[in-house]
Amino acid sequence: MNARDDAGAPRLSEKRRRELVDRYRVTDGRGFRLKHRDPADLAGHLVARDRANALLAEGVERLTRLQEKLYAQDRWALLCVFQAMDAAGKDGTIKHVMSGVNPQGVQVTSFKAPGPEALAHDFLWRSAVALPARGRIAIFNRSHYEEVLVVRVHPEILQTQRLPPELIGERLWRHRFESIVDFERHLSRQGIVVLKFFLHLSREEQRRRFLARLEERDKHWKFSAADLRERAFWDPYQQAYEEAIGATAAPHAPWFVVPADNKWFSRLVVVATIVEALDALDLRVPRPSGEELAALDAARRELESEASAERSPRHR
Ligand code: ATP
Ligand code: MG
Repeated sequence: MNARDDAGAPRLSEKRRRELVDRYRVTDGRGFRLKHRDPADLAGHLVARDRANALLAEGVERLTRLQEKLYAQDRWALLCVFQAMDAAGKDGTIKHVMSGVNPQGVQVTSFKAPGPEALAHDFLWRSAVALPARGRIAIFNRSHYEEVLVVRVHPEILQTQRLPPELIGERLWRHRFESIVDFERHLSRQGIVVLKFFLHLSREEQRRRFLARLEERDKHWKFSAADLRERAFWDPYQQAYEEAIGATAAPHAPWFVVPADNKWFSRLVVVATIVEALDALDLRVPRPSGEELAALDAARRELESEASAERSPRHR
């Protein structure tokens, strides 16, 4: 049974929430194997399907309140990275998770194949310019990780990056992992909380979702022939993900390997994870100092005297 709050709304107790989040968190990538993770996992039915919608709504509401504090406090920032195979539900997850959040405090950046400006820079440049300012949330729909995923699976892409040839070789991937780890450590030391989500989809579920996109007219727009071409590289992608997660999972920038075969479940886990991370910051709306309180008081008096002046007969 889940605890209920005063208003009678369903709640995910803190204990359950922590269990859910801990289950999918990876902070030490040594020996990490994707095949040991089940894309259809439901955390031993820690949360029941029929309560999922209500729990998701409750999580979104909590996130909304936490974001208000994050924004008001204006110290910490949050970066959420989303990576996944096609049709794993990145877009839908981002939409749901952010549905209650004040748009002024959030920025979503979609990382597509890089254009000339990005190609003229180092591989972390695009991420650097999209980082969240203090008090803000940045969502990366794909990210700098594509540089060790799609580029690794299709190494011919490297040729477009105009790197000096001496720097291209097997070491390049290790160097990129090191750069990413250092970059994310730097962010965490600057008060940017880094959460990385891999929506872990099974090959069979991707097949079903692609078929649904082909069968239903209003889902046609979601299907692209390129997706099918990438599907043919399923195993190299899984390998690349496994290595990338293994090499870059760290306490300062954990990965969350979220089972994605059930959308209702993956959304719940993502919201719970973000709530958990923001909760841990113990965010507080700043309290005004004595001097600021005096200034607020003076402002209040000024506005009040304006009203009484308007009411006074002299102004009639
Ligand atoms: P959706 O299909 O839901 O719109 P998406 O993220 O799949 O979302 P697409 O426009 O289909 O968006 O794909 C973007 C493509 O850009 C992906 O295939 C991705 O691998 C590629 N991409 C992203 N970053 C890089 C990069 N740094 N180098 C090369 N390709 C990249
Ligand atoms: Mg796509």
